[in-house]
Amino acid sequence: MRVRRLTAACAALGLVALAGCSSEAGNDATAPDATVPVEEEVQFDEGTTMAELAEAGAITVGTKFDQPGFGLVSPDGVPEGFDVEIAKIIAAKLGIAPEDIEWVETISANREPFLQQGQVDMVAATYTINDDRKELIDFAGPYYVAGQDIMVAAGNPLGVEGEESLADIRVCSVNGSTPAGYVQENYPDADLTLFDEYSLCAEALKNDQVDAVTTDNVILTSFVAQDPEAFELVDNPFTEEPYGIGIPKGDDDFRTFINDVLEESFEDGSWAAAWDATAGAITGAPAPEPPAVDRY
Ligand code: GLU
Repeated sequence: MRVRRLTAACAALGLVALAGCSSEAGNDATAPDATVPVEEEVQFDEGTTMAELAEAGAITVGTKFDQPGFGLVSPDGVPEGFDVEIAKIIAAKLGIAPEDIEWVETISANREPFLQQGQVDMVAATYTINDDRKELIDFAGPYYVAGQDIMVAAGNPLGVEGEESLADIRVCSVNGSTPAGYVQENYPDADLTLFDEYSLCAEALKNDQVDAVTTDNVILTSFVAQDPEAFELVDNPFTEEPYGIGIPKGDDDFRTFINDVLEESFEDGSWAAAWDATAGAITGAPAPEPPAVDRY
């Protein structure tokens, strides 16, 4: 599924809208307001990915379409969330306006292949940096550090306290994700159901087809915030999930460029504003301290 972003009013201002244009929270007068100007004059070394993208004036970004707070497609077909805003900040530094970003849905399992096959220029999709993935692609970042946690039905009827419970309950996660891998490795006998998207796990939990969903705490927190009568977070994280921007393997210049942009966004407040307007607005959690970028 492909969509193009169409935000005429905001685009006309030539601004990346972090609030006030694209997110519901932004329409609230009390919501934090922040914008990152789209660079008008950009200069990159010939032959670099940055030069190519700037010249094209367009970029294709893989993101989630079903994860509130990070990448959730809105009724007009455009994704919204923290990952989406981070991608817009990177695009802005390439001189690319939000309406010139082509959003492609990447589910957990197809992020590496989409990068390897050139279907996307970069991926911003709650994407944990790890060595296995680094064999296939490269990562800029991290720009956020999550932790694997567990979501159960409201009231926690089975008394799930932490990861040890995964051995004894019906648990749902997603193909190709690090949380699924963690369960398979550490609880090989677990009753694990795998879907392609977390929204399907949330649905299964609601319908009592599973007892729990496991993935990153921030993904689960947003599902809970959206439906607190149905869901509850165990809130006992047991892994570290540093989120990176996935790019094709070996593009060191592009990786350095994105790392520079991320660090700048940590400093100038645009990263925190992106958080406040998206995941922060849904969960009420203040923006944390940004992590240290890993220039491996
Ligand atoms: N951060 C984990 C991962 O990259 C879980 C979230 C996801 O599947 O997107 O696998």
